[in-house]
Amino acid sequence: MSMFSLAGRHALITGANTGIGQAIAIAVASAGASVTCAGRSSSAQTVSMIAGAGGEARELALDLSDPMAARDAFAESAYDLLINNAGIIRRADAVDFSEDDWDAVMDVNLKAVFFTSQAFARALMSRNASGKIVNIASLLSFQGGIRVASYTAAKHGVAGITKLLANEWASRGINVNAIAPGYIATNNTEALRADEERNAAILARIPAGRWGRAEDIAGTAVYLCSPAADYVHGAILNVDGGWLAR
Ligand code: NAP
Repeated sequence: MSMFSLAGRHALITGANTGIGQAIAIAVASAGASVTCAGRSSSAQTVSMIAGAGGEARELALDLSDPMAARDAFAESAYDLLINNAGIIRRADAVDFSEDDWDAVMDVNLKAVFFTSQAFARALMSRNASGKIVNIASLLSFQGGIRVASYTAAKHGVAGITKLLANEWASRGINVNAIAPGYIATNNTEALRADEERNAAILARIPAGRWGRAEDIAGTAVYLCSPAADYVHGAILNVDGGWLAR
């Protein structure tokens, strides 16, 4: 399976302490990469799970509410892979939506994705190296959603910059792609699962008949980081139990 091996690669994953980011960190490490778990909360649990399985991981403090926070992260270590996973969501009716809920989500979910990718690409280009970026998009990169105005705007933006960066950087040996997860049971969707009516409506629409698990996203991330995806640029892969096919 060397086509899917990440041996000898160094990956930085944002928001790897929980949820989808944690599952991706564990999978990328099990494919052979050494992993830096970057986030605002401690990723000690992820690091020890990876170490316990014989992998290599460390933590890096990174609070992306400052979208430029990663500007120096790529100077102190040579990374080959970047997974922009960190994200937040704020829910309110559009008529009541506050500027704070707009800015907070746009900063972490879109502006930080762009400027973290820029810092990573600059470091790669300065050493003439190739690399891969995987962004975590959403069904709301394609659909409107309800009561999540800034999240929808940001995730549509993630789809757009994934394609733009692919256009600019494919010829520089940098693959930029995204994964659009469906409804995955994590902290991000706790409020939806707690609402009986929304939960039933969502479940009824998922062809796979169940909520996704964070682990359902991890294999696609490994694939997009691997040599198997060398000719994949600007793609947004849906991993959604069939939701968008419906
Ligand atoms: P989650 O469990 O809430 O995880 C979000 C991660 O982002 C956490 O590690 C969180 O750290 C980190 N984060 C938030 N703000 C940050 C900041 N300012 N600086 C650094 N890290 C920060 O939710 P998740 O579902 O795994 O979300 C991961 C990604 O998948 C997000 O981009 C989300 O939009 C996307 N997504 C999720 C779903 C879904 O159904 N769950 C669907 C589509 C897309 P803390 O623990 O410190 O908050």
